[in-house]
Amino acid sequence: MIEQLDHQEIERLKGLKNKERMQIPRQKMPEQSALQRRKNFNEVPHGLTPMQAVIEANRCIQCKKPVCRKGCPVGIDIPAFIACVAEGDFSGGIAKMKETNMLPAICGRVCPQEEQCEKTCILAKKNEPIAIGRLERFVADWERENSKVATPAIGPSTGKSVGVVGSGPAGLTVAIDLRRAGHEVTIYEALHAPGGVLMYGIPEFRLPKAIVHAEVDVVRQMGVDIRYNQVIGMVENVDELLQRHDAVFLGTGAGLPWFMGIEGENLCGVYSANEYLTRSNLMKAYDFPRADTPIARSKIVAVVGGGNVAMDSARTAVRLGAEQVYLVYRRSETEMPARNEEIEHAKEEGVILKILHNPIKYIGDDQGRIRQMECIRMELGEPDASGRRRPIPLEGSEFILDVDTVVVAIGNGPNPLVPQTTTGLDVDPRRGTIVTNLNTMRTSKQGVFAGGDIAIGAATVILAMGHGRKAGQSINHYLESGIWDIEFLPGDEPDTGGKKKESK
Ligand SMILES: Cc1cc2nc3c(=O)[nH]c(=O)nc-3n(C[C@H](O)[C@H](O)[C@H](O)COP(=O)(O)OP(=O)(O)OC[C@H]3O[C@@H](n4cnc5c(N)ncnc54)[C@H](O)[C@@H]3O)c2cc1C
Repeated sequence: MIEQLDHQEIERLKGLKNKERMQIPRQKMPEQSALQRRKNFNEVPHGLTPMQAVIEANRCIQCKKPVCRKGCPVGIDIPAFIACVAEGDFSGGIAKMKETNMLPAICGRVCPQEEQCEKTCILAKKNEPIAIGRLERFVADWERENSKVATPAIGPSTGKSVGVVGSGPAGLTVAIDLRRAGHEVTIYEALHAPGGVLMYGIPEFRLPKAIVHAEVDVVRQMGVDIRYNQVIGMVENVDELLQRHDAVFLGTGAGLPWFMGIEGENLCGVYSANEYLTRSNLMKAYDFPRADTPIARSKIVAVVGGGNVAMDSARTAVRLGAEQVYLVYRRSETEMPARNEEIEHAKEEGVILKILHNPIKYIGDDQGRIRQMECIRMELGEPDASGRRRPIPLEGSEFILDVDTVVVAIGNGPNPLVPQTTTGLDVDPRRGTIVTNLNTMRTSKQGVFAGGDIAIGAATVILAMGHGRKAGQSINHYLESGIWDIEFLPGDEPDTGGKKKESK
């Protein structure tokens, strides 16, 4: 791939002044056309070419105080990795990246960079920000496609062992950091495949499963023992794990689907997004009958919700051959929590947004199959606790929509099994999350740490990874010192301006 680089052009770019760099347009990723991709599950964007990556990296003015770094929950040295790419040194770029992020091909694809590192990029004030996510994806893909993936060094054995429950981004990240520190690590995963939402939730066309497998393979090569079909809380509980491990990390995620509690939700053809996406992604139901699991082949699908999960469901329904796919959302497009890119892609693929609409009832036939949904129009009132304008039903605006499948994607709560089966573990009674000190990722139970969606509710991949990193440090500290009751990790204490902090 190196030979595709135009070295003369790289030299010219190197000599540019900052003002000139800022004139370079943000590089677009080539992608499948909407017409093409409606009919397949292949990834939509193809990624930057090597020369596009070099040009994009040369837009970076290498700020003295790089605010982009502060926007990254795992603290990637963004300017340093971009500086390598700008010179065509892709090995240097990926090495820098992997100092703090071992799942870059995943993060480069699914992280909401526009809300994190790219949001704070200085260029965003006048122009478009540096495409940090695209560059992250580029270096990771370059490494994998050129067979240059190296297994990180493992520290000398400490003789300690840690059990990790769940192999989502939180569990994988803590496992990597603990293995690097020389501990034995065993992951217990309920499903037959690793990755959590990365594998069962996010569709192939956004995150190819071969990429998840490739990044998990490195974890395995580091010597992490991943055990599948281990539903902790059923086969064994956390107290039993603590008998053979020195510490346990809980990264069981938020896989409990929410419903609205309206009439007809138990009709055949009304799915939770979790079930719909798991059938399609994990069980490959789109390939039925070659795959064992079937999925509804529908004509008219309504997806309820406005987040990434709703977009993934609607775009999956399009690819499964539905003639019409509606996205029913109770607020306006501005309030939609999904990434802008996902909303645009969904619209391009023909998903019809029914914004300011809400379902109030599902109507079935005498076979118990969904046939229609009754909706009501909404208007926006004053902002609510979330800061978004509150949707208010417009009396008398009810109407009927013909549908043969409904996918409910209004949110997920924490998986309740581990919290319910572990003694001495404090759980937030309202949210169902495990009460966790986010400075130390420690729970109320000695030796038990938690992170990711189970600690804060449904959030993002990179936040889960950030928790995994913090938990890794905290577990190391605990295993080395034996000290449990701390509010902060050493060196992380808040600056009290010389005043002594009052002890509780
Ligand atoms: C459809 C969908 C799309 C999303 N899109 C994005 C996106 O584009 N960008 C983004 O940043 N975030 C996205 N998210 C959110 C993101 O995926 C999650 O925030 C993230 O995966 C949380 O990581 P985690 O490790 O905490 O949990 P998870 O990824 O949920 O992993 C938890 C793991 O624990 C296992 N487990 C659960 N209970 C047990 C048990 N009792 N015993 C053993 N194992 C157990 C589960 O099987 C699972 O493998 C999306 C979520 C969904 C559902």
